[in-house]
Amino acid sequence: MTTSSRTAPWASPKAQQRLCEVEAAIGGLDPETVLKAVREALDAHASQFDDDGIVLYAGTNVLSPAARSAVATAVSNRPSMGWPGEKYQVGLDHLDTLEVLAPLLVADLMEGSYAEVRLQSATLANLAVYSTFAEPGDTIAVLPEAAGGHTSHHAQGVPAIRGLTVVDLPYDPDVLDIDYDRLPSFLREHRPKVVVIGASLMLFPHDVGAVREAADEVGATLLYDASHMAGLVAAKQFQRPLVEGAHVLTFSTYKSFGGPSGGAVVTRDAELAARISTTVYPGMVANYDAGRLGALAVTAAELAASGPGYATDCVTTAQALALALDERGFDVAGHDGEFTRSHHVAVDAARLGGGEPAAARLGSAGIYLSGIGLPWQHPSEGLRGLRIGTQEIVRRGFTPDDTPAVADLMGRVLLDGEAPESVRPDAVALRRRVNGR
Ligand SMILES: *Cc1c(COP(=O)(O)O)cnc(C)c1O
Repeated sequence: MTTSSRTAPWASPKAQQRLCEVEAAIGGLDPETVLKAVREALDAHASQFDDDGIVLYAGTNVLSPAARSAVATAVSNRPSMGWPGEKYQVGLDHLDTLEVLAPLLVADLMEGSYAEVRLQSATLANLAVYSTFAEPGDTIAVLPEAAGGHTSHHAQGVPAIRGLTVVDLPYDPDVLDIDYDRLPSFLREHRPKVVVIGASLMLFPHDVGAVREAADEVGATLLYDASHMAGLVAAKQFQRPLVEGAHVLTFSTYKSFGGPSGGAVVTRDAELAARISTTVYPGMVANYDAGRLGALAVTAAELAASGPGYATDCVTTAQALALALDERGFDVAGHDGEFTRSHHVAVDAARLGGGEPAAARLGSAGIYLSGIGLPWQHPSEGLRGLRIGTQEIVRRGFTPDDTPAVADLMGRVLLDGEAPESVRPDAVALRRRVNGR
């Protein structure tokens, strides 16, 4: 029997089923019962991720203790609109320090001159860039979805809100990168206003200089979306998009960057920065959340002070995990004898029943990650791959020496067919061993 949920009767059958389950379990809607239910959910979630889980999900992280201490929830509840010195609200002057530190530190760290940090997500940061450089009816060129092109690059996402046409850049699955030979003629044919590179799965860097050259020929703005790579870019590892030729860099502040939730736009060009800033305010935000800017500033300062250490650890741990997974019998994606130069690893899960079912089985074993499209897959295959990121386990204290144990737990679930529930105690034990160091 299918009953429809009250929360979202238009959601998919799979979502309906879960929504109905949760709705049925609600004990009451009085404030006391609601508070109790919320607290229980938060506590259970915290122990699952902070004590027990092995989190390999590539798009997340944990705040450093210092950054956590700078999160200001009381400030988040206060509206703040406009520039310091001309705030709509009177009396917010103390917070001006946060509003200056965050953009200055972020701009410096990413090798830009100006940073826009008031947007709540990278999706909105991308919309701000599209809206600044493309008019309704214009075209943008982005990476194909199966090559890690994000929803916020594609027709179902924010480009549609700006009324843009989206075309896929030519891509070479064999080298896991843009097809640079075909790029110039492709851009001449489609004449996009914005070219977007950078993806949700990035094992190898792009040739930013080559894309910039082709973009210049058609007068396009080159946007490098470093949502996932920001923590590495901050350390001048992997690649340096603004130095190599990107006009604009966007990123999520909470993925490998390891800060509070949010989005950022960075550029070296004062004129571009001014135009983007005006799109953002008053175009896209009125009041914004100043309560996360302190934590963002502290995160950026810590990344600057720690040099390449954290990023290098993320990459060496990813390379060790890729090798361990390969040795355990997984089909690990790679090119030219290399599995990855970033903190990402991709496993082809075609033999394992596909990325999403495999990720669900690992979840039952206390190992959390996601499916991902792979450039060589057929559109009908769903998400063919598993995507892994090492940015969180490194912060939690895992080292390359721990990766064979992680690969073995994954192998027991996905290759040996062991019941996830019987693997879970060993996954928890590994996590707690690392916690105890
Ligand atoms: C995650 C991601 C985004 C969106 O980030 P949000 O901050 O969640 O909006 C944008 N682009 C890419 C490539 C991403 O992977």
